[in-house]
Amino acid sequence: MSKLSVAKFGGTSVANFEAMSLCANIITQDPNTRVVVLSASAGVTNYLVELANGCEKARRDEIIAAVRTIQYNIIEKLQHQAEISAQIDELLARIEALAESASLATSTALADELISHGEMMSTKIFTQLCAERNYTTVWVDVREIVATNSHYGKAAPNDEKTKLQSDAILKPLIAAGKVAITQGFIGRDDEGKTTTLGRGGSDYSAALLAEILNADDVLIWTDVPGIYTTDPRVEPNAKRIDTMAFNEAAEMATFGAKVLHPATLLPAVRSNIPVFVGSSKAPEQGGTWVTRDPQPRPTFRAIALRRNQTLLTLSSLSMLHAKGFLANVFAILAKHNISVDVITTSEVSIALTLDKTGSASTGAEMLSQDLLDELRELCHVQVENDLALVAIIGNNLHTQAGVAKQLFHQLEGFNIRLISYGASTNNVCTLVKNDEADDVVRALHAGLF
Ligand code: ADP
Ligand code: ASP
Ligand code: MG
Repeated sequence: MSKLSVAKFGGTSVANFEAMSLCANIITQDPNTRVVVLSASAGVTNYLVELANGCEKARRDEIIAAVRTIQYNIIEKLQHQAEISAQIDELLARIEALAESASLATSTALADELISHGEMMSTKIFTQLCAERNYTTVWVDVREIVATNSHYGKAAPNDEKTKLQSDAILKPLIAAGKVAITQGFIGRDDEGKTTTLGRGGSDYSAALLAEILNADDVLIWTDVPGIYTTDPRVEPNAKRIDTMAFNEAAEMATFGAKVLHPATLLPAVRSNIPVFVGSSKAPEQGGTWVTRDPQPRPTFRAIALRRNQTLLTLSSLSMLHAKGFLANVFAILAKHNISVDVITTSEVSIALTLDKTGSASTGAEMLSQDLLDELRELCHVQVENDLALVAIIGNNLHTQAGVAKQLFHQLEGFNIRLISYGASTNNVCTLVKNDEADDVVRALHAGLF
């Protein structure tokens, strides 16, 4: 029996005609890939987010012209342009109308509707490009399949409803031997409104569809030939990791390794679906396979970096020997839908960073004035910005002698604002200044790998 793979191509992989052509090569050469999930062409989502946040007419025109140029640079290299141009023009006209509405009053639902157009355009163009190579595919509107709640900007899929819809629409296509091309990142709520899964969410869409279709694997085609010991853009000496475990990749994604969206691993882990990460520009270079239990597991696996972190330090003298202070703080944070990331405490103070992986597609601020006011009624609040979280990911870090010595040795010479060690067996987190973060990563990398 043949295999079933779900392939996902990210923004840079569908950025222009040449990149899209390489994606078409990959899928036409792999008969197992029968569901293809695409992101918007690189740069488009950022532009649409700007429109969704509301801007002046002149800037709107500028952005729409830029988006049009990105898409038309591809269309102009196609053989048959009339029909696809008409479809893209229609989508651009809707973007324009939605952007005008957003300039009058923003709303999270409106933002998702607007932002979803990026994936709509890239999938339409790619379907046409495949057709011109005599590779017949079926364009599928993923919103008819991926059902979500109404948490616009960061919607959570409704797995059961998604499965039912997939069984009705996607499964018969695949059973008939067809190849489906569809959008990542977006879905639809019970009210029929478009939702998005949060920035970078196409990886998650692909893994979710793979799980629901009982696929054999998920192939994440991106702009790097695999997952590296750290971001190769920061440290060119980073080494490719050939095989790694789900939990290691999940830790990396959670702590900022952009190569995989953190939620991607949820369906993969639940249903034990191997995830491959490779470069669409150089598929021959192979990539990383993420599976349940590859061996061996090194003590130090990778270093992840997340910039622009906010540190909240809450202190109160009345915390001394008091009870319930932490409970009160966490109740306020929970009420404001804030998920806490790294945390350290002392007798009279607590320092914590906010988990921005939960932030919305539009990048809305998490730390509202209301939240700060409420916390200030309870304690003294200090907010520090421009920090970066550097996470050392590994295995059994808490049971190995010498781990702390090795880390502190490499960190000598840097001002470490916070360190969290011991809560997890798989990571040690440090908070450093944004502008020192790259040097910290390089120093740790040189010492540990
Ligand atoms: P896509 O648009 O294909 O989803 P992304 O830009 O979201 O691609 O993710 C790929 C990028 O992730 C790479 O270009 C790289 O800079 C970054 N990255 C961060 N950490 C890592 C890592 N450990 N290994 C590989 N890439 C990483
Ligand atoms: N296009 C969306 C983004 O830029 C989703 C994705 O690329 O995964 O965040
Ligand atoms: Mg991505």
